[in-house]
Amino acid sequence: MSDNHSEILNRIDSTIATVADFPKPGIQFKDITPLLASPSVFSETIDLICEKSEPLGADLIAAPESRGFIFGVPVAQKLGIGFIPIRKPGKLPGETISVEYELEYGTDTVEMSAGSIQPGQKVLLIDDVLATGGTIAACEKLAEKQGGVVLGAGFLMELTFLNGRNRIPDCEVFSLIKIDD
Ligand code: AMP
Repeated sequence: MSDNHSEILNRIDSTIATVADFPKPGIQFKDITPLLASPSVFSETIDLICEKSEPLGADLIAAPESRGFIFGVPVAQKLGIGFIPIRKPGKLPGETISVEYELEYGTDTVEMSAGSIQPGQKVLLIDDVLATGGTIAACEKLAEKQGGVVLGAGFLMELTFLNGRNRIPDCEVFSLIKIDD
């Protein structure tokens, strides 16, 4: 990686706050609020995600609410491709496709509007944090249910010690910042 890239990554890293024990004890919450408050660092973040996304040649970006939207929408705009929102149940009008996935306690569900992906379209998933990989694996299933081909998944941050990328073994995974512990 060039010096220029590592300087940009240092700037991005310095705008991410870690909040201990939020939203529950034991979680080191990665707060992107300061990053979003800095237009120059946010813009550099989007540029770097685009640089890594572009070679994949996706037809569409799909991202889960709500922090996936923050990064997915500008990346889709900059690449000149469409954006598909993935939402919690009951938020999308009309017919929807859903996938249920396991949480530490209980289950959660993600939804996409039916017909939003045409069979064979190439999809790139984007989110802010890759943790256990449960959310992104459910998003991958959702896109595949509509006949989409999920090429990759891109993240601002990856909590590597949780091995989330093992949940999506068939797609290319990239993250700008890797957190090892
Ligand atoms: P997971 O399904 O475990 O990979 O969790 C991913 C989702 O939860 C992402 O949409 C993140 O926004 C959120 N998330 C998980 N862990 C964290 C964390 N430590 N800090 C901030 N967000 C997190």
